[in-house]
Amino acid sequence: MDTISKVAVIGAGTMGNGIAHVFAQFGFSVTLTDINSDSLKNAVQVIEKNAGRQLSKGIITEEVKTNIFKQLTTTTSLSEAVENADLVIEATTENKVLKLDIFKQLDSLTPSATILASNTSSISITALASVTRRPGRVIGMHFMNPVPVMKLVEIINGYSTEKEVTETIVKLSEMIGKSPCIVNDYPGFIANRILMPMLNEAIYSLYEGVAGVNEIDTVMKLGMAHPMGPLQLADFIGLDVCLSILRVLNEGFGNPKYAPCPLLVNMVAAGKLGIKSGEGFYNYSSENKIPVPSTFTLRN
Ligand code: NAD
Repeated sequence: MDTISKVAVIGAGTMGNGIAHVFAQFGFSVTLTDINSDSLKNAVQVIEKNAGRQLSKGIITEEVKTNIFKQLTTTTSLSEAVENADLVIEATTENKVLKLDIFKQLDSLTPSATILASNTSSISITALASVTRRPGRVIGMHFMNPVPVMKLVEIINGYSTEKEVTETIVKLSEMIGKSPCIVNDYPGFIANRILMPMLNEAIYSLYEGVAGVNEIDTVMKLGMAHPMGPLQLADFIGLDVCLSILRVLNEGFGNPKYAPCPLLVNMVAAGKLGIKSGEGFYNYSSENKIPVPSTFTLRN
């Protein structure tokens, strides 16, 4: 089994900052990189805020909180970030062309022993591995949002992933307090193959005027004991991320049942991406989220 002590995280958005936070919290040396320096600044602020919340809830001590920032460095240089990394976790935008390019670069920038992982929600690990000279050392490490809170890590074995690499990643996930679950590499894996059709169906229900935003979310919260309604969850994940995943499912299975709802397509085109843009199915500009009146909502 490989020993992992230095971890590089590529992409400092919603997921990247959470992944960096958790590894630093458990004493790993972490370098977080992004092409956008504002994303890096924002990530450090988010980590500060989330670590503060963990401290006030008694989840971590003041000493651990201080150590998170001692363990963490940020840089906009990819080559600097991955230098001496034992494990690289890619958490950039859900875009296959972008990820293939990054995996090609990672393959040339790191020694052949470095494990290359992707936090992709749906893109084929086997395809990402195919552009490297080490397909056996490429694996999916799919964290859930918010990373410091959610226990699951879906571990995705690509077609060629070596058993030893899977064992290392399982052990590592346990070391950072997570519960790993191993799945095979098919579109959407397990989490999003099941979750996304449900979110899409909720959006279709709104689009067809079956019910309004509040009603759809209330039915699923109170009726199915979901902690968040599907439209709120879609806003939380990011509507652009949801759309990308549905497109991967639709194309990967060649089955129109995964075709994204036209309302979702329109909202992403209009820049309504959910929490990260300030508006999706709800508006987040005031303290309490307010459902956005939709032209597709059922009229009373
Ligand atoms: P995001 O849009 O919040 O962040 C993506 C970040 O990647 C941005 O900061 C962007 O500047 C950066 N980036 C883009 N190109 C880059 C490059 N070439 N080099 C370095 N950085 C680059 O996205 P996110 O929600 O954090 O999603 C990241 C990945 O995690 C995606 O693959 C997504 O499918 C997956 N994921 C997302 C969620 C979720 O709930 N949002 C959950 C699980 C997995």
